[in-house]
Amino acid sequence: MSLPIGPYVRVPATVMAWDPRSLEVAAAVAALIREGRPDLMPEHIGSTAVPGLPGKGVVDLAIATDPDEIPGIVEILKRLGFGPQPGPDPWPPTRPMLVGSMAFDGATFRLHVHVQPGTDELARDLAFRDALRADPALVEQYAGLKSQIVEGGLTEGHQYTYQKQAWIADIHRRLGVDRPPIAPPATIGILGGGQLGRMLALAARAMGYRIAVLDPDPDCPAASVADRVILGSYDDVGAALRLAHLCDVVTYELEHVAAAVVDAVDAVTPVHPGRVPLLATQDRLAERRFAEGAGAEVAPWREVRTTEELVAAAGALGLPLRLKVATGGYDGRGQLRLATAADLRSALTRLDRPPGERLLAEAEIAFAAEVSIIVARGVDGRMGTFPLARNVHDQGILAESVAPAPVPDDVAERAAALGERLALAMGLTGTLTAELFLMPDGRLVVNELAPRVHNSGHWTLDGAATSQFEQHIRAICGLDLGATDALSPSAMVNLWGSGALRDAALQPASVGRAMQDPGVHLHVYDKRRVFERRKMGHVTALGTSIDHALDRARTARDRLRWIDDNADGAEHEEGRP
Ligand code: ADP
Ligand code: MG
Repeated sequence: MSLPIGPYVRVPATVMAWDPRSLEVAAAVAALIREGRPDLMPEHIGSTAVPGLPGKGVVDLAIATDPDEIPGIVEILKRLGFGPQPGPDPWPPTRPMLVGSMAFDGATFRLHVHVQPGTDELARDLAFRDALRADPALVEQYAGLKSQIVEGGLTEGHQYTYQKQAWIADIHRRLGVDRPPIAPPATIGILGGGQLGRMLALAARAMGYRIAVLDPDPDCPAASVADRVILGSYDDVGAALRLAHLCDVVTYELEHVAAAVVDAVDAVTPVHPGRVPLLATQDRLAERRFAEGAGAEVAPWREVRTTEELVAAAGALGLPLRLKVATGGYDGRGQLRLATAADLRSALTRLDRPPGERLLAEAEIAFAAEVSIIVARGVDGRMGTFPLARNVHDQGILAESVAPAPVPDDVAERAAALGERLALAMGLTGTLTAELFLMPDGRLVVNELAPRVHNSGHWTLDGAATSQFEQHIRAICGLDLGATDALSPSAMVNLWGSGALRDAALQPASVGRAMQDPGVHLHVYDKRRVFERRKMGHVTALGTSIDHALDRARTARDRLRWIDDNADGAEHEEGRP
């Protein structure tokens, strides 16, 4: 027996002229749904509901209902032939969208049915629809935006939607139906309690939010500033669900969280930046594919699993090569620099990963400088981008950053545009950091993406109008973003551990000497144990120039000493950064 609703077909967005038959299709689909449930009132929303508005031609319907009714309505829709939303970024089961198609008058119309808990979302959709129906100038503006998006090339179905969000949010605001933010004293959950989680928590607490943290270590840096600590590893779905039930919104401070954890949390409470940014960045091979798909340049690369494939990659890419584990590397760990044929032969043994594991081999890049761009994107799609930072690494670990980076204006502008394009392409809500190589000819090559606040953005704590941490909290809570201007030339230098593994405490007199400069600010992460090159804190400074700021920050950092600095003999433990 054939069902009244046919299968859905995903197609890249093309903008077509409005088709008056959409109105009849919407009415026919609504009538079908009402046959089974006369109490439901499916409303025709979206572009096809606005006469004269070009669009993708998808007929959207929305049903506002009680949250408890959602599973029953989904059942009815499935019986008609509707199926689950395909693609990487579906609506969660708490507010699902079902898809299908209907043959009508010799054409096939694609269908979306949004099942929404409560009536707020529908009120917003109807206000937007009716504003467009009443205002041809607005229709024209919207049509212009759509053709611009299609020309921009990010036309996968979700990416098309992401690019409309900010404009739609502006209209919602004008109509007075914008989404209320998550306001203090709501609870923000953070997956991961390292220094980034700690500084996110500090910023959120200053605003009056409550904090719950998930981390395996009860003494993690964020523990002392959280209201609740749930103990569990980053792949512990049960622990993550316990966290989710305490929270109004959840975020993560590291991209090594299991996707299953994010999915489980998302069914309970919104999690930002979300699963697409996580999947696009937690695996370096996926990251390369994502960046290329978004039109960004990356170092020439190959996926390799065996020494033979590595040798072949070296033949194609040349030496030196960087060989990187696909998942789990950080701070230069999990990667090797391969310069000779002998290096190639011993590489897999030295990486010490299970045989056959996927690895990334990429050409070493002769960059002029390393820079990073940090973009925040709100729930509503509006973006705010910090000034570019220039970074110096020491054996793969960030040592110092300065901002605004001393580069020509056009480089800074292109870096910002690149960061924004990447944030848009992944539909991120929250913060995206793009580590970039600046080439001698001015090209920007993507090195690494992180869907989170970043060490190279710590200068914003004291050097920008809004810190990256506050910005992330504003973004995920649905608040407008803060100003991102640099207050003056700024520098940040990392404070590393030194010496043998032991309890961590700074020598008081050294702290006194470091702080003699009134222009420096000390940030210490309260890690209980110190070891050589562990990230323990950082110093920021403002100055009359980048060099002045850097000099002040370095001077302060160089004065700091860990108690019993010169003790040795104890073994170093493998630890987190
Ligand atoms: P991590 O996750 O450890 O930060 P990255 O891939 O960012 O890993 O590598 C760390 C640092 O190593 C980079 O910031 C850069 O200094 C250097 N590096 C990594 N890949 C390359 C490359 N292909 N060419 C030149 N330098 C590289
Ligand atoms: Mg990096």
